[in-house]
Amino acid sequence: MATITVFEAGYCTHAACMALRGAGMKVCRFPARAYLIDTAGGRFLWDTGYASHFIDHTRSGLFSWYRRVTPVYFDEREAVARQLRERGIRTRDLTAVILSHFHGDHIAGLRDFEGTPTWLSGAGWADTRLLKGIRALRKGFVPGLIPPDFESSMTAIEGFPRIELPAELAPFTHGYAAPGADGELLIVELPGHAAGHLGAFVATASGWVLLASDAAWSPSSYRELVGPSRLAHIIMDEPAQYYATLRMLNRLHRGGRVSICLTHEGAL
Ligand SMILES: [Zn+2]
Repeated sequence: MATITVFEAGYCTHAACMALRGAGMKVCRFPARAYLIDTAGGRFLWDTGYASHFIDHTRSGLFSWYRRVTPVYFDEREAVARQLRERGIRTRDLTAVILSHFHGDHIAGLRDFEGTPTWLSGAGWADTRLLKGIRALRKGFVPGLIPPDFESSMTAIEGFPRIELPAELAPFTHGYAAPGADGELLIVELPGHAAGHLGAFVATASGWVLLASDAAWSPSSYRELVGPSRLAHIIMDEPAQYYATLRMLNRLHRGGRVSICLTHEGAL
């Protein structure tokens, strides 16, 4: 069965109510997580968290607004590439880096994995790749985080076998089987939060886990169907789809057979 190792690579802060409506103005930490997924046939990194490249590319100019809106705290020792190295894992040991979406706190470490096969939503990338300036900033995308020649190492998940999911993953019915993962890593679309937003079901010894990325920022969101602040809708790709996805997570949670992990949960 697959194992999941959780890494934290920096965090940002913002008012609790931004992540969960009605949660008040208390300023909370939102850790940026990445996950190492080891399956029998492959080793995958899900997202990268923050990295020094984020600090470099948001130091001044237009993109410094990103950090003014959500102050970022990151120590170089937290870089995921470094944490992997300390465990004896080199970038070339990875089958692929998988990106849940293109917000800066999920892709900031990509330059540390230059040349590593990278899997992503082809539709989401098509919507994102040409964004520049204020249009990029509004979508939480920092173009400078993308390594040179990125597209030569990238594969769209839409080309992977689309399969029917096991009944216990209902209401989710279809997903993409990650090549080399022997059915232990199934990628699903979780639309709404950002263009091409993805999650993944991972088969572990203690049952299925859904890495749900930013489909919610707090477990209370899917447990009680409470969204984030209306202000947060500004950065959402499609608010109506976001709430449809949240209702899917709610049904999955009520089914009681799958653990749900959110990238930034913890503070709320
Ligand atoms: Zn996001």
